[in-house]
Amino acid sequence: MQAIVCHASKDLRVDPQEEPAELSPGQMRVRVARGGICGSDLHYYQHGGFGAVRLKEPMVLGHEISAVIEAVGDPTGDFRIGQRISVSPSRPCGGCKFCHKGQPNHCLNMRFYGSAMPFPHVQGAFRESLVIDASQAHVLADHVSLAEGALAEPLSVGLHAIQRAGPVFGKRVLVTGCGPIGNLLIGSLRAAGAAQIVAVDLADNALECARKMGASVTHNTRQTPDALQQYSAEKGYFDVMFEVSGSAQALRDGLACVAPRGVVVTVGLGGDVSIPLNVLVSKEIDLRGTFRFHPEFAQAVDLLNRRVIDVLPVISHTVPFKDAVQAFDLAGDKTQAMKVVLDFGVPD
Ligand code: ZN
Repeated sequence: MQAIVCHASKDLRVDPQEEPAELSPGQMRVRVARGGICGSDLHYYQHGGFGAVRLKEPMVLGHEISAVIEAVGDPTGDFRIGQRISVSPSRPCGGCKFCHKGQPNHCLNMRFYGSAMPFPHVQGAFRESLVIDASQAHVLADHVSLAEGALAEPLSVGLHAIQRAGPVFGKRVLVTGCGPIGNLLIGSLRAAGAAQIVAVDLADNALECARKMGASVTHNTRQTPDALQQYSAEKGYFDVMFEVSGSAQALRDGLACVAPRGVVVTVGLGGDVSIPLNVLVSKEIDLRGTFRFHPEFAQAVDLLNRRVIDVLPVISHTVPFKDAVQAFDLAGDKTQAMKVVLDFGVPD
């Protein structure tokens, strides 16, 4: 069995790995089918980590995957061999104080695939074969492709961001940053009934995808840096803003356009940024973080299965997993790529 292993910054290899061990009841062995390359995978590849999170040992990357069930530990359970599934990478412990509070995304013992936050690192899911808990498996409808199934994970991130924002039905919404997460969020906002979705990015191909996903209006702020000024009159226009780029400038520009008592959800990881606190205070703006997801994963698969959200516009490329280096270099080129999906050789 082979896996995509990041040894250090710019050192990505397809390496042999041990076959998974015996199954216990409640577990299943799956053949990984497709894997979406995420921004965090790219950070490990390009920079050996992000912020204080650094690679300290080789780590299998990947946490956005679909798969086909190959063996089940408990033949009397709900799952059958051959079923096509999306795999949730979120594995909270269920026993810590945050799990007990109903906040499993803040689990103190989280075992999220392909994460160098703990040491030893949690090995990821870009591998041909994987043993998972049955609770991680979510069956895909026949009409949902395995590539779409791999996008349930970033879709869940968008759904959780909306949970953090509160009601968006009938609201005017600003989204800054139209990478895969931003664009899947836009699709979710449209499904959730937002009245108007204004999308901002620096790249035209990202904005073209945003329009396909349901953005009402798009602005390229590289070409037109003051495009958002029109929304800042009379204390601002938007009820809700999602900052998905991680750019301090985008956050500052957006804050000027958010109406009093608006909600700003920061999805992008921006490191240390300065914000105009006077604007936040005087307009009584709620600034909220959002991090990962947990129950939203099942909701994301349900939305895919019921065709409520079409994620296909977000998939720009599919590349064989053995060409991992080319796939990661492509994913890092924002002028070409939106979501690059790795193909592990399982036919649809
Ligand atoms: Zn926990």
